[in-house]
Amino acid sequence: MLNYDELDKKYIWHPFTQMKDWMVKEQLMIERGEGVYLYDINGNRYLDSVSSLWVTVHGHRKKEIDQAIKRQLSKIAHSTLLGLGNAPSAELAQKLVEITPKGLDKVFYSDSGSTAVEIALKIAFQYQKKKKFLTLVNAYHGDTIGSVSVGGIDLFHKIFHPLLFKAYKVKPDLSEVEEIMKKHHQEIAAMIVEPLIQAAAGMLLEPKGFLKGVRELCSKHNILLICDEVATGFGRTGKMFACEHENVSPDIMCVAKGITGGYLPLAATLTTNKIFNAFLGELKDNKTFFHGHTYTGNPLACAAALANLEIFKKERTIQNLQPKIKLLNKDLQRFNNLSSVIDIRQCGMMVGIELAAGMSQKVILEARKRRAILRPLGNVIVLMPPLGITIRQLKRLLDIAYRSIESAAV
Ligand SMILES: *Cc1c(COP(=O)(O)O)cnc(C)c1O
Repeated sequence: MLNYDELDKKYIWHPFTQMKDWMVKEQLMIERGEGVYLYDINGNRYLDSVSSLWVTVHGHRKKEIDQAIKRQLSKIAHSTLLGLGNAPSAELAQKLVEITPKGLDKVFYSDSGSTAVEIALKIAFQYQKKKKFLTLVNAYHGDTIGSVSVGGIDLFHKIFHPLLFKAYKVKPDLSEVEEIMKKHHQEIAAMIVEPLIQAAAGMLLEPKGFLKGVRELCSKHNILLICDEVATGFGRTGKMFACEHENVSPDIMCVAKGITGGYLPLAATLTTNKIFNAFLGELKDNKTFFHGHTYTGNPLACAAALANLEIFKKERTIQNLQPKIKLLNKDLQRFNNLSSVIDIRQCGMMVGIELAAGMSQKVILEARKRRAILRPLGNVIVLMPPLGITIRQLKRLLDIAYRSIESAAV
């Protein structure tokens, strides 16, 4: 057998990773998955407590999605949306319009959350003919230059500052938002928000009613509202989309991560007919939206996404989530007894446990000993298991998290 750990260390540059540190430590090599579990090349089983970076929805090796991909594979793996259409992307677009907030009627595909945001920004700019954006402090919208420009996490973004375009930043506070909109509405094309919870920032909760207030202020000042549902979409918050909690319809919405159930890279940027129609014209009018990625609307990914949505219906995923969310809420209370726990934040199936500085890496290692894969955000331990996790598995995860924090403290 090849030595994968050796090959990895010799050839791979890992994302968001200090490679000097990576190369001197023994690393896990994952070989396969099943349900909520990952198996390494030595056959050890681990609970996938972060849904393979927030994407796995119903679990790994979900029969229906496996089959949908195989079925599509027997027809065609890829055909372009530049100048051609294809069946799975058309059917999926209809389904996405059906399940997303009212008023979102057109679907522009791409392949990652970052590109979905990039597209939203470019659409807003071209539509509004204004060039500034308004964003929240601590925002995370992806790693491409446009999405970093509306980002606000210094650790990731500061170094790229010379490359970025200017964005106004506000705290999630309606009077601050109003003040800046009043002053600068003539130059602000859109405000972008992660609805309800800033995930990558460490699961920071926005005040109740904030999103709804932002919606009203945006409408009042002729500023488009872009909701980045890349992390929150597809059930994570206990509803299909976080916007539903406050009955908000954005002008533009970005979805990615969970869209294929965690199988293949796919993203979508949805907009209203009103915005779409403004791009219609004769070729010479130069209103065309000149943007598109090579794998846009990839049939395999769209087939996976269709199967993913079908399971939501068939298994009543959202309904079955409610007792799990309650269990999390209840059981997380006891974590307050642990002296290293500073704060606990939850939005549906998204949990952040903030620990005293310097603790999180130790907790991750302790969890690994107990066969759970966790990945922290700074000092915050994230619990974000697949929505398909059973109550029993969820209890086990909470138990592992509790004991890992406890052991790391001594
Ligand atoms: C992960 C994430 C992105 C970026 O998505 P990628 O697929 O990693 O490019 C954008 N916005 C939010 C809110 C995210 O959580």
